[in-house]
Amino acid sequence: MNLSLTDTSTLRGAGTVLLPGDPGYEAATVPWNLAVVQRPAAVAVPRSTDEVARVVRAATGLGMRVAPQSTGHGAAMLANRSLADAVLVRMHELTGVTIDPAARTARVVGGTLWRDVVTAAAAHGLAALHGSAGDVAVAGYALGGGLSFYGRAHGLASSHVRAVELVTADGGLIRASAEEHSDLFWALRGGGGGNFGVVVAVEIDLIPVADVVGGMLLWDLSRAREVTRAWARWTADLPESATTSLRYLRFPPDPAMPPFLSGRSLVVIDGAILEDDERAAELLAPLRSLDPEIDTFARIPAAGLVDVHMDPPGPVPAVSDHAMLADLPDAAIEALLAVAGPDVDIPLMAAELRHLGGALARPNRGALTLLDGAFALFAVSATPTPELAAAGEAVTRSIASALAPWTSGSTFLNFAEREIDPRTAFDDADWARLVEVRRSVDPTGVFAAAHAIDPRR
Ligand SMILES: Cc1cc2nc3c(=O)[nH]c(=O)nc-3n(C[C@H](O)[C@H](O)[C@H](O)COP(=O)(O)OP(=O)(O)OC[C@H]3O[C@@H](n4cnc5c(N)ncnc54)[C@H](O)[C@@H]3O)c2cc1C
Repeated sequence: MNLSLTDTSTLRGAGTVLLPGDPGYEAATVPWNLAVVQRPAAVAVPRSTDEVARVVRAATGLGMRVAPQSTGHGAAMLANRSLADAVLVRMHELTGVTIDPAARTARVVGGTLWRDVVTAAAAHGLAALHGSAGDVAVAGYALGGGLSFYGRAHGLASSHVRAVELVTADGGLIRASAEEHSDLFWALRGGGGGNFGVVVAVEIDLIPVADVVGGMLLWDLSRAREVTRAWARWTADLPESATTSLRYLRFPPDPAMPPFLSGRSLVVIDGAILEDDERAAELLAPLRSLDPEIDTFARIPAAGLVDVHMDPPGPVPAVSDHAMLADLPDAAIEALLAVAGPDVDIPLMAAELRHLGGALARPNRGALTLLDGAFALFAVSATPTPELAAAGEAVTRSIASALAPWTSGSTFLNFAEREIDPRTAFDDADWARLVEVRRSVDPTGVFAAAHAIDPRR
């Protein structure tokens, strides 16, 4: 986009706004997913709600779009669709969390990461429905649904959002809740981040959980067939108090890693069980009978749950693919083993199955009513070089394709880092309502989102 000198000074006058060539522009545009290159017309790094509003008004006044972003975990789709006419609004300097222990709520400022919320809540014996990684932002995660290790017991994180404060396309600040702008509030809970405005605060419910039985069981990948079959059988009649994941993990040799990970290929089951110690041990017994090499399941402070999944501690270049599975019969396990098991040599970081069902499969509050599937598949490759990017692209696709016969046909937006049809995440009536809400708050499509609800359709 060609901006005149007057245009650029309008943008710069709105706050910390950097243009291509400015010192700091390159650094400010780097997302969490280092494989993605973002080249927006400008990047803003606001430090206040007023600044967000000024930036939105300056951008729309110049006919530009606005792309909100907290971490850039989900940056791939935004960048694919070009940001050449957009101001990327990076929210990482606008953070903070306030806990109301009596009401059991947290007010989380726009760009805040889960780790900060989890730590603040734990000081009051409370927990939040965070995901597996502490450096994912609350805003993008919760607006996209939010699948946590509390999920089968407590449902989607979006269902526990109480209010959202956002700067809309006209630069105004509004609060959406059950009482105010209730249609927009419905849409924000699970409709996908970035579609309705720049979120400057989210108010969420906390749960009275001070500690949980959490941890992992680990085997060499050569045990994948028997462990996967046992886990699939185990999940079939598991109480909703347990939410777990099974992954095939491959680690390169790395002296910085603990020896049980460095250079190893593994099968790992991890998650949380919201039961007393005796009942949790009873539930874990069938998995423990498989004689894991490492077993860390124990009662831990709730704040420790954000670390059990061992997600990368910081930004990485990665490509991924995803599918929702209706079922995991032996034939599906064989299909997974054929493309990602111990007998194949592939550049894959993780092939993961998250167990769904329970409260995730019952009506939740908001636009994303449920996760339609028994398991969510997520396959991810680290891609430090262009060659590995192409290979990772191919291998993650091959895993999703191999399991295609068992898909529910649905999609979970938070796990979809490729271009997908976002309608597949919702039923027809909810999608039509989402488009209506988008039309009413952003009729010209000012906001650019990872998973776009197009107001013109
Ligand atoms: C290592 C890793 C682990 C993960 N684990 C889980 C998990 O356990 N459960 C789960 O459900 N998901 C998980 N995810 C997926 C993650 O929840 C999504 O990628 C989510 O969209 C990230 O939100 P973000 O704000 O950090 O990312 P971003 O890329 O910054 O944003 C994602 C989307 O939200 C929008 N958005 C972000 N901030 C704002 C804002 N302030 N206002 C308006 N819109 C905004 C963006 O426009 C974009 O459309 C994981 C991802 C990674 C990389």
